[in-house]
Amino acid sequence: MRDFTLITYKKLVQTFIANGYSFQTQQEYIKKNNARLVLLRHDVDLKPENAYTIAKIEKKLGIQASYYFRIVDERFDETIIKQIAEMGHEIGYHYDDLSLCNGNYDAAIKHFEHHLNKFKKLYPVKTICMHGSPLSKWDNRDLWKKYDYKDFGIIAEPYFDVDFNEVFYLTDTGRRWDGDNFSVRDKVNQKDGLEKELKFRSTMDIINAAKSELLPDKIMITTHPQRWDDRFMPWAKELVWQNVKNVIKKWVYVKR
Ligand SMILES: [Zn+2]
Repeated sequence: MRDFTLITYKKLVQTFIANGYSFQTQQEYIKKNNARLVLLRHDVDLKPENAYTIAKIEKKLGIQASYYFRIVDERFDETIIKQIAEMGHEIGYHYDDLSLCNGNYDAAIKHFEHHLNKFKKLYPVKTICMHGSPLSKWDNRDLWKKYDYKDFGIIAEPYFDVDFNEVFYLTDTGRRWDGDNFSVRDKVNQKDGLEKELKFRSTMDIINAAKSELLPDKIMITTHPQRWDDRFMPWAKELVWQNVKNVIKKWVYVKR
C-alpha cells in the first residue's frame, strides 16, 4: 500500500478513535487536557487545497484539528481558511517573521503583529506555531527571547507550551515518521528514551502500534498536508522532491 495517501491518513485517524483517543485542538489542550488525547497539528507550508481536503475528512470523522497557515503569497488563501474554520477546526499562524526579516527583531515583531491581525480578521487566533525555515540561519522561535507572544493575545505556541515529557511527538517532516536526521528544527526534547523506544518509519507502523496499545496516552501528530495525496502524479512529485530536500537539509544540518 502507498504511504502518505488520504486513504492511509483516514485509517490513521480511525485507528486512534477506535482505541479511545479524543482529538483536541491546541487551544482546547491548553485550557484542559484529556487523559487520552491526540493533538492533531497541520503545518500548511504549501497547497492549502490539500489542507481543505484533509479538513473535510476529519469533519466527516467527527474530529477537530489545528491548522497553521503561512502568510506568504498563495499559502494565505482566505476562502480556504474560512471554510476550514467553519468546519470547527482551529486556525493559527505558522509564523516565520524573523527569517523573513533577516534576523531584524524590531522589523520582525512588527511584521508578526501586522500579519497576525490579518489572520484575526478571519478567525480569533489564539495559538501560533513556528515554521522551521530549514534553509534559513534564523530560528523563528528566537523572536520570543525578546518579545512575548502573550502580549498579542496568544495563549500557546506548541514548542513552548506543550509538555513533551508527557506528550509523545510524531511528525511527518522528511516524509517519514523517523526523519530526525532530515529535520533541522522540527524537534522536541522527549522524556528520556521515548523517541528511541518508539520509532516508526511508515504510517502503517504507527497504525499497528496504536492497535497493539503500544503508544502513550498523549500524542501530538504533526503533518504537512501537501504530502498527503491519493492522486498518483502529485504524490510521486512530492516523493521525489522530498528526497531531494532531505539531502539538502541533511547537508545544512551537518554544516551547523
Ligand atoms: Zn512549516
